[in-house]
Amino acid sequence: MVAVLAGLPFATLFSPGLHGAAAEPAKIRVLIIDGQNNHAWRVNTPLLARILTDTGRFTVDISTTPPARPAPPRAPRNPTPEQLAAHEAAVRQAEADAKIHDTKAPALWAAWRPAFARYDVVLSNYNGEDWPEEVRTAFVTYVREGGGFVSYHAANNAFPNWPEYNAMIGLGGWGGRTEKSGPYLRLRANGWFRDTSTAGPGGGHGPQHEFVIESRQPDHPIVAGLPARWRNAKDELYHGLRGPAENVTVLASAYSPETKEQEPMLMVIPFGKGRVFHTTLGHAADAINGLSFQITLQRGTEWAATGRVTLPAPPAGTLTEDRAALRPIAP
Ligand code: ZN
Repeated sequence: MVAVLAGLPFATLFSPGLHGAAAEPAKIRVLIIDGQNNHAWRVNTPLLARILTDTGRFTVDISTTPPARPAPPRAPRNPTPEQLAAHEAAVRQAEADAKIHDTKAPALWAAWRPAFARYDVVLSNYNGEDWPEEVRTAFVTYVREGGGFVSYHAANNAFPNWPEYNAMIGLGGWGGRTEKSGPYLRLRANGWFRDTSTAGPGGGHGPQHEFVIESRQPDHPIVAGLPARWRNAKDELYHGLRGPAENVTVLASAYSPETKEQEPMLMVIPFGKGRVFHTTLGHAADAINGLSFQITLQRGTEWAATGRVTLPAPPAGTLTEDRAALRPIAP
């Protein structure tokens, strides 16, 4: 009887219920992390979850960090007396909120211990305060031992001073990143090279616009079957990202009118036994409603979790250079 069991697909043995031999492959367990971000994370996290679960391939849990410390409100310019009074009231409120935050935050952070090991892949929608050292260590161990990681949009703004995190994402932006954070990745005749000689800030973007994405590794499972060029819905086109940029494979890039360079849009990076998928895309609803963002997030997350992609490419003619294909899900 052991021989019969050994002949079954591995996933069948562990499928809940074991409803006959046609059991579906086990779903990929995703953990989304959010809680602080200079983007609309409360809006975007449910959309990310829906993009994944709509495929039938994933289950999604969410772990939310303690909130950020309330920032003091910006003073109005040339205020009327009423505006000034309102501003002063807002400042007092922010100070009170900050006091509550400072009282409660240490205990909240002490209690925040996401169970990374229960998941096949962690997707970060987080850009905020440093995680506790215990969580950072657990996360590095998780990925190093084979866990998947997806860095989504402003997650690459986070943690400028965490070396292992920057090794995972390959490139990042803002947070005081400069040439000290690592090189730019630039596309030249011989391929992508680490530009270690150009100084300057890490991270920027011009006004949001639709732009064409160009596949650079058409044989990689995440972009296999996608066209050579397709139009991405209105989005921020991140440029001039910097980081260690070791072992980065750029799957797709886009031409930035700001830098006059091809800028990496989709990347994969190995970290120990783990796989990282890094998408710079998906600033807000316009972009999240785009098929370009959705398909690459779905396939990139599957690949980070399993090293394979079973989700099919969309039918030919769905993603085209002329028109940004949309599947509206955002309110
Ligand atoms: Zn953004």
